Amino acid sequence: MKTVYTIKEVRENIKEWKKQGLTIGLVPTMGYLHEGHKSLIERAAKENDRVVVSDFVNPIQFGPKEDLAVYPKDLKRDEAVCVAGGTSLLFNPEPSEMYFKDAETYVNVDKITEVLCGARRPGHFRGVCTVVSKLFNIVKPDRAYFGEKDAQQLAVIKRMVRDLNFDIEIVGCPIVREADGLAKSSRNTYLTDEERSAAVVLSLSLKKARVALENGERNADKLIEIIKCEIEKEPLSKIDYVEIVDSENLKKVSVINKSVLIAIAVYVGKTRLIDNFTWR
Ligand code: AMP
Repeated sequence: MKTVYTIKEVRENIKEWKKQGLTIGLVPTMGYLHEGHKSLIERAAKENDRVVVSDFVNPIQFGPKEDLAVYPKDLKRDEAVCVAGGTSLLFNPEPSEMYFKDAETYVNVDKITEVLCGARRPGHFRGVCTVVSKLFNIVKPDRAYFGEKDAQQLAVIKRMVRDLNFDIEIVGCPIVREADGLAKSSRNTYLTDEERSAAVVLSLSLKKARVALENGERNADKLIEIIKCEIEKEPLSKIDYVEIVDSENLKKVSVINKSVLIAIAVYVGKTRLIDNFTWR
């Protein structure tokens, strides 16, 4: 595996691979890689001849009060995960490599970015869609891999790819969890030991909703109440949102009679964590 830092170096490799008729899978990440990222890389390695992982903490997707300055970084650790997962090229650019100082072009997806996390993080998905579009243009992958952990991101990227006719297959990959159910996340490193134990409440609350669904509950408000009630039992937690939406257009539903996304965002201490599941 090679680690490269410039767009030029990525393009040189891609050009060579395309000349050889090889297929390319892209896994966009913000680094500090864990088993969740690794599962995306492994899937990409299985389905493509070459895998490119981007490792870039994208400044334009962070709000002014968010954790850009403290976001964890460890290139050595990322390189080890990438090698183990079957990566061919790790792209680790500086922000100045990715963005012109006077850049004026952004990619904006409308309605489905205005709900859930998008409603609470203005500009976040504009930043995500812009950097992912740039990565698509730099890497020109056949397939790109995204985690269901960030379910809204996955829905937004699929919509962007459809609307802008990117000739790229978007592959969603299942959430990888810790043994106790907490979804793996680079942000879990912010948690104190006490908060880490408390954070299990996210997946526990979703489990309760799943059981209710399995027992025939179809009323969204009732399911939301079950989830909220469970989260509120944990004193270190504070609900940001609990919502049930159509899994494609992310519009709220009141009765569950089609595929829905059940998504939550919860502060545990100062750390904002997300989790979800799709009920089909
Ligand atoms: P991030 O580095 O957090 O921006 O994540 C990069 C990619 O990895 C995104 O597509 C995430 O959805 C995905 N990802 C992060 N955590 C997990 C997880 N626990 N399971 C599966 N995919 C994940």
